[in-house]
Amino acid sequence: MKMINADVAIVGGGMVGLTLAASLAETDLRVVVIEGHSPALTLDPIPENRVSALSRASEHLLRALDVWPGIASRRMASYQKMHVWEQDSFAEIDFDAKAFGQQNLGHIVENRVIQLALLERVQKQSNVTLLMPEQCQSMMQGESETWLHLASGSGVTAKLVVGADGARSWVRENAHFPLVQRDYGHHAVVATVRTVEPHQGVARQVFTPDGPLAFLPLSDAHLCSIVWSVPPEQATDYIDMEANIFNRALTAAFDAKLGMCEVIGPRASYPLTMRYAQCFAAERVALVGDAAHTIHPLAGQGVNLGMLDAAALAQTISLLSEQGKDIGQYASLRRYERWRKAEAAQMIVAMQSFRSLFDGDNPMKKLVRGLGMRAVNHLPGAKQPLMARALGLVGELPELAKPATRRTTFS
Ligand SMILES: Cc1cc2nc3c(=O)[nH]c(=O)nc-3n(C[C@H](O)[C@H](O)[C@H](O)COP(=O)(O)OP(=O)(O)OC[C@H]3O[C@@H](n4cnc5c(N)ncnc54)[C@H](O)[C@@H]3O)c2cc1C
Repeated sequence: MKMINADVAIVGGGMVGLTLAASLAETDLRVVVIEGHSPALTLDPIPENRVSALSRASEHLLRALDVWPGIASRRMASYQKMHVWEQDSFAEIDFDAKAFGQQNLGHIVENRVIQLALLERVQKQSNVTLLMPEQCQSMMQGESETWLHLASGSGVTAKLVVGADGARSWVRENAHFPLVQRDYGHHAVVATVRTVEPHQGVARQVFTPDGPLAFLPLSDAHLCSIVWSVPPEQATDYIDMEANIFNRALTAAFDAKLGMCEVIGPRASYPLTMRYAQCFAAERVALVGDAAHTIHPLAGQGVNLGMLDAAALAQTISLLSEQGKDIGQYASLRRYERWRKAEAAQMIVAMQSFRSLFDGDNPMKKLVRGLGMRAVNHLPGAKQPLMARALGLVGELPELAKPATRRTTFS
């Protein structure tokens, strides 16, 4: 049996797991990444229906890791404005990058583009062993190490095992971390759509009585990626119905803001659940990304939060390693746990407040919403804190996610 001895074993080589591996590039730590699926290396001409809105903090991080060129050379789109409104109401709010002294408000990137750019970077690291495709079969915790037994028959021992294995985390389950979860009562329908009018670099979101519908601008001026959150039965209808009927329903829900919409490529739907692990770390185990928390995609913050977990954990264990300390001891990982649990909890509460604000069709509530949103839209300075949060520039940022001019090295 082949046995690999590592300092850090990362289970899950998705966007967050690979960000962690890349963030450990400058350390002496031996890293193993175990990923169940090898992503296809070539991109189709039609953008995929799973995309992420990357915040400024994530951009700083990916630039610091030298991953950004790999994203830019594949496919991405920046957006300069955001327009949010409520259907059948006068409630609306706009954000313009120029008003905040920014060139853009963020970037829309296909998830696979992010994963491929990270993979390319990690494959150049001499301290990383990539096992892909590979599955973990069992995990056993010892006093100074954790053993992972893999489907191929190989084994890995590591001082720290990190669960970066997504919402249904195998690591979280095997480590018996309790989980708080609540069904959002929505499924998100995703698709790539062509619109008659160009999007002009504007990310748009309309709040309908059924749930929010976002149009995220892609690099082709007439293509957007949609995230349409609706009750589960409705999501099933939207997936199953003929394309021309779907196109009409979508155009109407979007108040025909960009003219007639035409879905291209496959539609898919994802159940939306809030999850919050009660522990983000224990003796020899830590969680990052969706393994630790999942939130409603209405503010596009899930992977941004996860990437900051990765950078924060890398910062914590790099420092421990430099000080000659055991990187897998819970006592040493508690700072990471407190730090990222607080950030995730704040985001979960913010998503809940957003959802409650737009919940229901009561005319009085609608009037108050309309007045409130208009006030924020026109009051000088009122949008600044909202924008800082959307750019991901609030809270305690890991060093790698700070602008290059304000960064201090940690390893
Ligand atoms: C519809 C929708 C829209 C979204 N939009 C946005 C957005 O605009 N912005 C944003 O920030 N976030 C967004 N999110 C959230 C974002 O997609 C997730 O937060 C992100 O994918 C989490 O990344 P991750 O690497 O933690 O997990 P995942 O992407 O789930 O990756 C986990 C990886 O682990 C692997 N794996 C799992 N189990 C094992 C195992 N046992 N052994 C080996 N490998 C394993 C999987 O193959 C996978 O590659 C959205 C989510 C949804 C549902």
